[in-house]
Amino acid sequence: MNIVIFGPPGAGKGTQSNLIAKNFKLHQLSTGELLRKEIKNKTELGLKISSIINSGNLVSDDIAGNLIEQYISNKKYKNRLIFDGYPRNLVQAKNLDNLLKIHDQKIDIVLKLSVSLEIIKTRIIERKSLENRADDNEKIAIKRYETYENNIKPVIDFYKKSNLLKVVNGETSVSQISTEISRLIEGIKG
Ligand code: AMP
Repeated sequence: MNIVIFGPPGAGKGTQSNLIAKNFKLHQLSTGELLRKEIKNKTELGLKISSIINSGNLVSDDIAGNLIEQYISNKKYKNRLIFDGYPRNLVQAKNLDNLLKIHDQKIDIVLKLSVSLEIIKTRIIERKSLENRADDNEKIAIKRYETYENNIKPVIDFYKKSNLLKVVNGETSVSQISTEISRLIEGIKG
């Protein structure tokens, strides 16, 4: 089973992906996490993308696409991936479909975490003191939220058409959200 999860930055998709990965024995593929690692390790790619990420914009579709391809093409992860933070726009959604097709796989369910900007702002301020992520100040947080909103609408329509989309209320507690997600995944397993 392959799962896509998305939601605005600060919605808790990382936390939920981690729980799903554990519960359903999947591999969590977080493009944001992979990109932050590149920056931390000061790799060539990391140096190139740090200002983009820290200003709340998206890295290029090529860069993000290359990252996920490494996992999709790896037999170790076949039908065991949870895409956390990819796709972010329609080009990426189509690219994901193509890559999965090439490697004889598909998406089984798409989970959209819905959270309002107000709630996101409060959470980001809380997270800032916990994790000290450089990109998490309020101005950047709002920019990241807008970037998400502007790009994600066609992705939502794309997945609605293929009947894969499930909307989850992301404003409840971590455990309530996780229970709801597990129920939805169990539902498609049949
Ligand atoms: P995230 O941890 O998913 O919120 O991602 C953190 C940041 O990494 C985003 O604000 C983007 O700058 C970048 N990023 C993550 N995933 C992608 C993607 N699929 N396409 C472009 N940029 C991405």
